[in-house]
Amino acid sequence: MSNATRDGRVWEPDFLLGIDPKKCIGCGRCFKVCGRDVMTLKGINEDGELVALDQEDEDDEIEKKVMVMNDEGACIGCGACARVCPTNCQTHGALKAEAA
Ligand code: SF4
Ligand code: SF4
Repeated sequence: MSNATRDGRVWEPDFLLGIDPKKCIGCGRCFKVCGRDVMTLKGINEDGELVALDQEDEDDEIEKKVMVMNDEGACIGCGACARVCPTNCQTHGALKAEAA
């Protein structure tokens, strides 16, 4: 399968393969620029577990926020998220992310 831009130039997608939770500061910039809902913001509680942010009861326990993969298969490899990340914590590549 070949990938091409509108006028037929070769386009190699640079897929988001992963986000390092130790480096991510949960700033949300990558989420804002992604049009594909590939990522979602989660909280990490004091036990180091990922928790949803939409449950107000649990907000007190959240120690930090991190971006995690939500629907990695939807990524088109545009690379926008990598350009806005201030901590360079994302891994990108030509290969599609392995199925979870
Ligand atoms: S490469 Fe593009 S489509 Fe994929 S996660 Fe980043 S912003 Fe979204
Ligand atoms: S832009 Fe980088 S640091 Fe900010 S939430 Fe996304 S992955 Fe984390």
